[in-house]
Amino acid sequence: MEKSIFTRIMEGEIPAKVEYEDEQVIVIHDIAPKARVHLLIIPRKPIATLMDVTPEDLPLIGHIHQVAQTLAKKLELPGFRLINNCGKEGGQEVFHIHYHFLAGFTE
Ligand code: 5GP
Repeated sequence: MEKSIFTRIMEGEIPAKVEYEDEQVIVIHDIAPKARVHLLIIPRKPIATLMDVTPEDLPLIGHIHQVAQTLAKKLELPGFRLINNCGKEGGQEVFHIHYHFLAGFTE
């Protein structure tokens, strides 16, 4: 599989504003934000889409939800949206699984 743009960001080939990272995920600011806060939670493992997640990946999917909690606390956000676009029909453009973390809709 060709390296995704997100793998290239993780490898430092392409710059991005990093908000958080650990051994399983990286969180960057979306280049074209759709809300005051628009982050992308991206697993280091290059899974193409949510439909490619296997039972062994489920702890990682749980971890993404924990990271969303961490971000909300860190950025003092009272609420947020966590969105996964799955497949072309679901509006997915980058085929390396990621969750959009959006907040700041009432400002
Ligand atoms: P998708 O439509 O696949 O769910 O979302 C892909 C997201 O990645 C889009 O919101 C798009 O703005 C963002 N994106 C695409 N290329 C880059 C990039 O090079 N850097 C950053 N930070 N975000 C990107």
